[in-house]
Amino acid sequence: KQVLLEVKNLTRYFPVGRGERVHAVDHVSFRLERGKTLGLVGESGCGKSTTARTIIRIYEPTEGRIIFDGQDISHLSERELHPVRKHMQMIFQDPYASLNARMTVRDILAEPLFAHKLVKSKEEAGGFVYPMLEKVGLTREHANRYAHEFSGGQRQRVGIARALILKPELVICDEPISALDVSIQAQIINLLRDYQEESGTAYLFIAHDLSMVRYVSDEVGVMYLGQLVELCEAEEIYAHPLHPYTRGLLGAIPVANPKLARQKVKSSIEGDIPSPIHPPSACRFHTRCPFATEKCKEEEPVLKDMGGGHLCACHLYD
Ligand code: SF4
Ligand code: MG
Repeated sequence: KQVLLEVKNLTRYFPVGRGERVHAVDHVSFRLERGKTLGLVGESGCGKSTTARTIIRIYEPTEGRIIFDGQDISHLSERELHPVRKHMQMIFQDPYASLNARMTVRDILAEPLFAHKLVKSKEEAGGFVYPMLEKVGLTREHANRYAHEFSGGQRQRVGIARALILKPELVICDEPISALDVSIQAQIINLLRDYQEESGTAYLFIAHDLSMVRYVSDEVGVMYLGQLVELCEAEEIYAHPLHPYTRGLLGAIPVANPKLARQKVKSSIEGDIPSPIHPPSACRFHTRCPFATEKCKEEEPVLKDMGGGHLCACHLYD
């Protein structure tokens, strides 16, 4: 087992004036091994994209550390980050917004090769670009066209090709299939899985829905209002979800714990997500949790091992 990425107490707040701040990511810790996939799930606004963007250092962390391939990159300058970025790429949710409309696909894919001085000429770049296009299910003919001429699925293939052309160790996939037709989603998932098998690239795969990460993840983490509330092996989370929020996301799933089995599990989570500027006290889920007690409002549950490496932050299991 080799750890590629370790995130320790990662925290990112955004000031919003009058001394207030958005608690976007709050003391999140996890590890990702080489060649593996961690699925990170939660409703929009839970901090998963901010987590991704802080790891890749689009943002600087407010607190905590990001250790990538043995190096602490938490506070590196842009200049120091440049060589690290070669090994750490991102695939974005919106392939429309993330691709330059004025560039041909060939130039979009060649740009990172030039930026990292892997090639000196357009001819040399072609030696990387054409095989990459084929790898993502496109052809040489697509190289001279512009991204806006393509369908959403094709455009996402270009976004994936651009991320993979540097052969990164880590790819952060920020909702890469959410904007695509259901029929295309499985194709993109299969493409990413096949590439991982062949290359040993690790993925941090972000989605708002547990079903979207099911077939790619080795481990799954669930975030709520900036915090990680549950983290375990993928099969385990679908078979034995522990946190009431996770169980809500999955719908009414029968639970093995007899203490909980007697209580009716709500099939959906009621209520709005509270403001991340003034998150609820102690357990942030207490305003929506069907099992909340006084203790949940007063004492913050910590993420701890419930057995076999299944981490959960909830007083129900104290
Ligand atoms: Fe619900 Fe309490 Fe567990 Fe929070 S700690 S999820 S409020 S039971
Ligand atoms: Mg997002």
